[in-house]
Amino acid sequence: MDSFWHYQFRIIMLGDSTVGKTSLLKRYTEGVFIDFINQTVGVDFYVQFVEVEPGVRVKLQFWDTAGQERFRSVTQSYYRNSAGGLLVFDLANRTSFEHVKNWHEEVMERVKPHKIIFILVGHKSDLVEEREVSVEEAEKLASTLGLKYIETSAKNNNNVENAFAVLTMSIYESITKGEITLREGWDGVKCSLTQMTESRSKAQKAPEQTCPC
Ligand code: GDP
Ligand code: MG
Repeated sequence: MDSFWHYQFRIIMLGDSTVGKTSLLKRYTEGVFIDFINQTVGVDFYVQFVEVEPGVRVKLQFWDTAGQERFRSVTQSYYRNSAGGLLVFDLANRTSFEHVKNWHEEVMERVKPHKIIFILVGHKSDLVEEREVSVEEAEKLASTLGLKYIETSAKNNNNVENAFAVLTMSIYESITKGEITLREGWDGVKCSLTQMTESRSKAQKAPEQTCPC
């Protein structure tokens, strides 16, 4: 029952190396913060289950690059098979903020004609003295790109859960509104019809109206 889900969303982490992508995931899925994280090679996976409305359980499957972003060698399928992502910059690193536009452009280009739902995350908000990007300019950029903006700290556990919740709800709402459609051979969103039927007979409350598959 633990691994039961109605939907699965695949979510990617984007942004320059060292902005704190892995730390955000570790804080969210494992509740820890590690000062010096070792970079593994390849792609790491993280999983978290959330309820988007009573009785609707979503499995979030996160893909985390392990250093490839440094060389801009993230593969096409990494972008293509995802429903959404956190576009992260470091509030204490102006260059990482300036690269946000490039990341956004690159992804949009690669997933065409489909869309992917992002939120913009200004990370390491605990570094108050070192801050190099103001809330105003980050919000301005976010609105130019049509994204929501959230500031987080994995170190202080500030707003981390909220950032993931906002993204998850945006994806879920896009599905219920029909803006995201499930496509054959696409792994961004999966809907588990058989598991739903099973749950209906057990729990007597299936979210029939919200399931597009
Ligand atoms: P990634 O390359 O984007 O995955 O970044 P990492 O998660 O590996 O983090 C890079 C460095 O930033 C590590 O030394 C982390 O400990 C540090 N870091 C991550 N999140 C925070 C945070 O919220 N506050 C502070 N002060 N440091 C952080
Ligand atoms: Mg990392």
